[in-house]
This record gives sequence, structure tokens and C-alpha cells, in this order.
Amino acid sequence: MGFAALFAHGLVYAIIMLGIFRLRKHLGLGVLFCLIGSMHFLETYLAATFFIDLPFGLISPGSTVMFAGKLSLFLLLYIKEDAEVMRQPVYGLLAGNVLMLILGAILRLHSNTVEMPGYNPDLIFVDQMGFLMMWGTILLFIDAIMLIIIYERLGGFISRTLFGRIFVSLALVLSFDQVFFYLGLHYLAGVPQAAFYGGWIAKIGVAAFFTAALAFYLRVCEPSVVGTPTRQIADVFDRLTYRHRYENLMRQVGKDPLTGLRDRGLFEQLGPTIFASSVRDATPMSAIMIDIDRFKSINDNYGHIVGDRVIQNVAQTISNTIRDDDYLFRYGGEEFALICNKGAVEALALAERIRAAVIADHVLEGGAAVSISAGISTRTVCDTDFTTVLSRADAALYQAKARGRNCVEGL
Ligand code: GH3
Ligand code: MG
Ligand code: MG
Repeated sequence: MGFAALFAHGLVYAIIMLGIFRLRKHLGLGVLFCLIGSMHFLETYLAATFFIDLPFGLISPGSTVMFAGKLSLFLLLYIKEDAEVMRQPVYGLLAGNVLMLILGAILRLHSNTVEMPGYNPDLIFVDQMGFLMMWGTILLFIDAIMLIIIYERLGGFISRTLFGRIFVSLALVLSFDQVFFYLGLHYLAGVPQAAFYGGWIAKIGVAAFFTAALAFYLRVCEPSVVGTPTRQIADVFDRLTYRHRYENLMRQVGKDPLTGLRDRGLFEQLGPTIFASSVRDATPMSAIMIDIDRFKSINDNYGHIVGDRVIQNVAQTISNTIRDDDYLFRYGGEEFALICNKGAVEALALAERIRAAVIADHVLEGGAAVSISAGISTRTVCDTDFTTVLSRADAALYQAKARGRNCVEGL
């Protein structure tokens, strides 16, 4: 009867949990996570108090069926989602257990608690459960990492036998967990030694049961993983954070690392596009090339670190002077390109404002001023492409340099 009840316990748990997992695209994973969270107390409570006597020792349905089931679900989360999703319920459980202990401690501040006949709160029990759940969740945290590592390592050897791979991963991690969780049970709840061996054998049996459930699920209900190449261990940790890195990368794409401005690559892309829309909409467009004067001597006299800071500061000054709909790029070393929807007169005024702002804002140690020269070119009806406008701006810059620098030229 003991085995039958245990089997029924596992079957119901597996059907409900895997069913909710299957529906995650419709319901959201939050439903599954809450379900895992609400089972957590029952699982720990039963692990400490509810044992059945089987031929191979004392076993607790709570710590065997429900805990092994939870670990199997985490493995499934990793296989079908990723490590970042898998760690969410582990962190949630840890935070929940800490909160439970804190709230338990605060409850003791009440002085006017009412005695209920035969039905009084047992705060010592709540503490005991809290600590045991904490201990179990710290172990779960280690278990989850071990589970990923073992599962991935085994992929190299037995990648084709999904059953073997899942079973060995679960059995090893459950064995590790049994040793350490039992120590907690023994010292916190006085659970006898017979429960250690009984629990261990039962956990291995339950691991086989859940492996069968998972293998069935992965082959029949959601089969895409079969045949998926094995991830390298190093990739596992990459995957743990890949979303953040991807977002960072996306933020970085097209940005110059020194100044944070759009970079040359983006200039090559956007320049012709802005030119084309200016032609289509018949709106004015000007390109302004800006170059820091005698920058080489700044590097030579003050060093490259100061040189870099000058580039950053000048970039900042130009950014502060332009409007949001002007496009500023770091074109090269100490050269900037500005594309704006202005006619010749307005563009000249803007370039002049930038020149004046730079000379006013930046003085080097010893009193030497930093200045820029700028060359402006405005699109005409004869211009057929962006490069023509750009090369005129470049020629204008050359003229400004020839005129003595710290000035603006237009062509
Ligand atoms: P001009 O007034 O004619 O523009 O003189 P210049 O010295 O500024 O002219 P040039 O273009 O020859 O010198 C630019 C120098 O900028 C050369 C290069 O060593 C330096 N440089 C380029 N990129 C960087 C950078 O990212 N950081 C630093 N510190 N220096 C750079
Ligand atoms: Mg230059
Ligand atoms: Mg220069």
C-alpha cells in the first residue's frame, strides 16, 4: 500500500506540474513558480514530520516525491527555457524563507495575543520550519548549479540517451542533497538515522520515476530538445547572463566607446539615409565637419590621457550646443561630423556657436585654449549623393585650417 500511495503521489504531482509547465506560454511561468512556492511549506513540513515505514527504511513522501519532483522541474526549466529562468524560483524561495523568519521574529513583539482553546500558534514550530526551509533552499541553490553542470557534462558522453542523462544528473544531485538536508533534519527536527538511508533509496527510485516523466514529456509533449546540440560548460554561465549581455551589446552597437556619440559605422549608414529623406521631403540638410586644432601637440605636450579627455569634453560641448534632431557622430580621432536639417545660414550660425562654446569652455593647464575648426556644406539640388556633400564639407574644413584655425568655412 505504501508504494502505491507513493506512486499516486508522484503521478498526481507530475501530471499537474508538467501540465502547468506545458501551458506556460498561455498562463505565464508565474503560475508554475507560485505553485512550486506553495508546495514548499508542505514539502518541508512533511520532510520533518511525516514518515512511512518501508522495507528499506523510513521515508518521507514530502522530501522524496515533492523535492525530487521540484528538482526535476528545475531541470526541465533549464532544458526548455534557460538558466536565468531556472534560477528565478530558487531566488524567490530563498527570499521567501528569509522573510518568513523575519516576520516570525516580529510576531513575537505582540503582547496582547489571545489564547484560543486548543488552537494556539506554535511560533517555535514556525521558526523550526523557517530554518529548515532556509537550509533546504540554500542546498537547492547549490543543487541547481550542480544539476546544470552535471547535465551538460554528461551531454558529452550520453547525449543520445536523454533518460540516462537526466537520471544520472538527478540521482547525483539528490544524493548530495540527501546527505546535507538530512544533517539539517537531524539537528533541527531530531529525525532518526533510519530516515537517511530510507530517504536516499527512495529518492533514487523517485528520480527514476521523474526521469521517465520528463523523458516522456520531452519526447511526446514538447519534443524540440531531442537532438539539440550539447552546450559547453562555459556557455552555461554565458547563458545565465546572455540576455543582459545582449541588451548591453545592443545599447553599445553604433556607439563610440570614448565619447558615447554615434560612431563612424553609424555615420556611413545614416548619412545617405538622411540625405535621401532630405531630397524626398525637399527639406534643407547640411553637413558640418569639426576638427580639433593642433590636437597632435595637445597629445605631445599633455599626454594621451589628457588628449582623450579633451576629445570627450569637446564632444560634450558640441552635444550641449546642438538640438535633439541634429545628428552628431565621432567621425575619427579628433574629428566630429554633424548632420542637421538646416540651410546654409543657419548651419553657419550653429557651427559658429559650437566654435565659440569650445573656445570658451576648454582651457588646458598653463592657459592654452582648445579650439576647433569647422567646414560646412549644404545640400544643393545638383547633389546626387551624400558623398558629394561630405567631400565639400571636408574641403571647407581644409580651408578653415588654412585660414589659421579656430574658424568656420562654408562651401
Ligand atoms: P590640425 O589643426 O591640422 O587638425 O592639427 P592636428 O594636430 O589636430 O592634426 P592631425 O589630424 O594630424 O592630428 C590628430 C592627432 O590625433 C593624431 C593622433 O595621434 C591623435 N588621435 C587620434 N585619435 C585619438 C584618440 O582617440 N585619442 C588621443 N588622445 N589622440 C588621438
Ligand atoms: Mg584631424
Ligand atoms: Mg586636428
